[in-house]
Amino acid sequence: IVMRIVFAGPPGAGKGTQAARLIERLAIPHISTGDMLRAAVKAGTPAGQEAEVYMKAGQLVPDSTVIAMAIDRIQENDAREGFMLDGFPRTREQAEALEAAMKEADLSLDAVILLEVDDALIVERITGRRTDPDTGTIYHMTFNPPPAEILDRLVQRSDDTAEACAARLSKYHQDTAPIIPFYEERSILRRVDGVGNPDDVTARLIEALG
Ligand code: ADP
Ligand code: ADP
Repeated sequence: IVMRIVFAGPPGAGKGTQAARLIERLAIPHISTGDMLRAAVKAGTPAGQEAEVYMKAGQLVPDSTVIAMAIDRIQENDAREGFMLDGFPRTREQAEALEAAMKEADLSLDAVILLEVDDALIVERITGRRTDPDTGTIYHMTFNPPPAEILDRLVQRSDDTAEACAARLSKYHQDTAPIIPFYEERSILRRVDGVGNPDDVTARLIEALG
């Protein structure tokens, strides 16, 4: 049974949206390094203060910060039986560090799901994204419109501008895409089409996870 999962794909591919749906069925924690970093920024921790500048500009937070944060997190109790890592690894160095840490515990990844969405669709998905801070629900002003009564409290991420989005996409192709051949070589990469209505994408993901 597939339980140690990496969820990869370009920014705005729908990883957060789909992870929230899958986690209910899988009963494993959803571990998003983006969410962890945003929480650290909000709390004003040293790691958060360091990360904030990079995040706002759509740049990657340095490996030295992110690797320790992610590896500590998957060693917590609730991740013993499995986890869905979202947004980590994002560089080849992160992929190697994750593999080494898991190997030390005699573990390995069961699957890396690559949620594929063309660049042309990404900008619209990202600039229309809004989040409900009370529930964490992810909306889209066009594709998944929020109910009128919560409009006032919705927030837009500071890196969801057209400029930061372009930077994030180019970072994705330059720094993150190299993890694809890394996992192909290990025969654990599974590609899933992320275009279409969210229910169809969920069905594809469930099939890909077996
Ligand atoms: P998205 O998938 O929508 O781009 P995330 O919430 O996963 O956004 O990440 C937001 C930002 O947090 C990234 O643009 C980057 O600055 C930082 N970040 C998250 N995960 C990592 C990581 N594994 N390595 C480096 N930076 C990261
Ligand atoms: P990621 O975590 O990969 O950055 P999100 O799950 O936050 O992506 O989705 C990015 C934006 O795209 C959100 O506004 C979300 O509502 C929207 N979205 C997610 N899945 C789809 C889909 N299948 N079709 C259209 N829009 C989508």
